[in-house]
Amino acid sequence: MLDKAYGKPARSKRSDPVDELVRTILSQNTTDRNSLKAFASLKERFRSWGTLLKTPVGRIERIIKHAGLANIKSKRIKETLYEINRRQGGVTLAHLADLSVDDAAEYLKSLKGVGPKTAACVLLFSFGMASMPVDTHIFRVAKRLGLIGASINIGEAHDVLSDVVPKDLIYSFHLGIIEHGRRTCKARSPRCGSCVLYGLCAFKDKRFYAKKGAELT
Ligand code: SF4
Repeated sequence: MLDKAYGKPARSKRSDPVDELVRTILSQNTTDRNSLKAFASLKERFRSWGTLLKTPVGRIERIIKHAGLANIKSKRIKETLYEINRRQGGVTLAHLADLSVDDAAEYLKSLKGVGPKTAACVLLFSFGMASMPVDTHIFRVAKRLGLIGASINIGEAHDVLSDVVPKDLIYSFHLGIIEHGRRTCKARSPRCGSCVLYGLCAFKDKRFYAKKGAELT
């Protein structure tokens, strides 16, 4: 249904896991545009992540200024990469490919500053593992649809949705629901009247918003 409404999401090439980790840290509390700009600046300045470890945090902060909260993110990136380097003898996450999804997630979440969303992004986009990253769009839409209970918090939603959604659909579900949240199931005024998921949705106010939308047109 979502493929029909928004087009089938293109499956992009698997990303390098450390790149994905850094990119996800940069994406917190900012737009894709800003975080991608900051990530591109980092890649341009550092030929390897090992070089970043030798760089003062203040300089990293200036390089990633576009991402916002640069003082926090620069420290977090350096500390996380430092810890990976300490444990693995190099800034690499390649060993995660040999672990189960749960063990790989546990490893990532044991790194200071890495939460369930960052861990799930690395596992899904770099290793193709069945792990669901949950952002605010996915959390809101999944709640309205009734896929997760009212008492579930965003941290718990990663595991719940990873179990609910068939493993081979996690990638397209993730991208499709984000698109749906941006274009139709908006936070303030969902466009229920033109929603392809209307018949499946458990949101108690969907009739109200469908009617409201019809009055505005
Ligand atoms: S019917 Fe409304 S609340 Fe339900 S998914 Fe569609 S837009 Fe969101």
